[in-house]
Amino acid sequence: MSSAPSPQASTTRLVHFEELWFTDGNVVLQAGDRLFCVYRGFLASLSSVLSDMFSFPQPSDVECYDGKPLIVFHDPPGEFVHFLKAIFMPTYFLPPPTKTTFEVLDGVLRLSDKYDVAHLRQRAMHHLSTWFGTTVEQYFADNETATFKLPGLKGYVAVASLATQVHAAWALPQCYYDLTTTSIDEVLRQGCHVLNGTTRQLSEADIIAISNGFRATRRSSPAMRLLEHSDICGDPGCLGSRVRLAMDAAEDWMVDPLEAREVWMEYMGTFTCPECFEKCSESMRSWEVGFWENLPAAFALPPWPELQRMKAADLGG
Ligand SMILES: [Zn+2]
Repeated sequence: MSSAPSPQASTTRLVHFEELWFTDGNVVLQAGDRLFCVYRGFLASLSSVLSDMFSFPQPSDVECYDGKPLIVFHDPPGEFVHFLKAIFMPTYFLPPPTKTTFEVLDGVLRLSDKYDVAHLRQRAMHHLSTWFGTTVEQYFADNETATFKLPGLKGYVAVASLATQVHAAWALPQCYYDLTTTSIDEVLRQGCHVLNGTTRQLSEADIIAISNGFRATRRSSPAMRLLEHSDICGDPGCLGSRVRLAMDAAEDWMVDPLEAREVWMEYMGTFTCPECFEKCSESMRSWEVGFWENLPAAFALPPWPELQRMKAADLGG
């Protein structure tokens, strides 16, 4: 970046952002202390919001920089850089399955939503959907399909903030659920995250939803399904193994019920007969479907069909 004098007698030292300083550009954008020289007509073609911002009644009314109109954006510069790079650098933000980072996704999605840049908003929603599913099978597939990584608990806090801001409520049941799988004290203690130069934290509505969901999800555990009489084969060895697993795992499964599947399958496959394994696997799957079905209600969110309609609209049908 090279330094440049301020267009006004300001104490802020402005810098050209070299990667987005096109010498034949015809408008200068400012976000924080950064200046970008880009193409007004191209930006205006992307959205009516930007078009309105660039339709000056009289050129003389507009502040200029280096002989070009200067438009000040009051967005965090960290977000703005990702947004502009996604617009002007063709390989910066490609659709899934190409990987991205959560910082880029966050900046692009927030500002493409705000400025109504439809193609970037839709692409960012596709990336978000690779981690945050609306079916239980998508939940279990997220590690394989996700195009970005989250920095643990703080990452989920940032996703809650992002999804709320861009009205992607369909991502919230899984995001909130993942936040309830730790202690509520931990959520509140670590509940803020600096991303793209801005602090992300849970809103009061997020905290109320999570604490209500915390109570609801902890009332549900798949452990009792192991002891259903209709499923038991009559072999005392199988019965003993089922009781042992139910007692050992009940507490862990109350904290993170959807984690049960892996342990359950491994244990039952080893210590029970094929008939018990099959019946218990079916029972586990039906428990998961029921649990997932009730997840939005646990967080006072709309039911899945409504969330799925919202998601389909965000992803472009
Ligand atoms: Zn058995």
